[in-house]
Amino acid sequence: MKTKMDYSKEYKINEIFYSIQGEGRNTGLPAIFIRFSGCNLNCKYCDTNHEYFNIYTGIQLVNKIFTFSKKYNTKNIIFTGGEPMLQLDEGLIKHLKEKDYYLCIETNGTIHNQSVIQNIDWLTISPKSLDIAVLPALLYTNNELKLIFDTLLPEEIKKLGSWKHLYLQPKHNNKDGNYIENTT
Ligand code: SF4
Repeated sequence: MKTKMDYSKEYKINEIFYSIQGEGRNTGLPAIFIRFSGCNLNCKYCDTNHEYFNIYTGIQLVNKIFTFSKKYNTKNIIFTGGEPMLQLDEGLIKHLKEKDYYLCIETNGTIHNQSVIQNIDWLTISPKSLDIAVLPALLYTNNELKLIFDTLLPEEIKKLGSWKHLYLQPKHNNKDGNYIENTT
């Protein structure tokens, strides 16, 4: 049965903007960025203001995407956050794929939603913990792993499996030893 988009579903959106992807394999890709508000983690270095958001219904969100797409002449979309997997759903993703959008998701990798993942074009996992037990996304995809690099040893990185695209990103470090907290 065809999954229909829920036009009245409400999404918490921090911001929508047009820019050029500056990280990872898709560096240089012009895209519409959809930054969702809210996350299941609480990293101390997080730069997203989760208190600020606008509510978009499904129809408002797709209309905004269509407007940006026309204005900036791109069909590339990057869903980021916050944690986009808390809000993305199969109906929205399939609706945009039917309109030929190229869909990317940037996720912390802790939320498994196969119906979303199997219908997108590019997945970037940026884990905030090396605990493999809290990284279900690692088990079913291998598009791109982006590690915020602190003091990882090569053996620890190898434990995360075989990745075609692996990027290390430096992190500021105040050595207080507690960067992350699960809020669920
Ligand atoms: S996973 Fe990302 S969005 Fe979530 S709290 Fe950490 S840095 Fe912020």
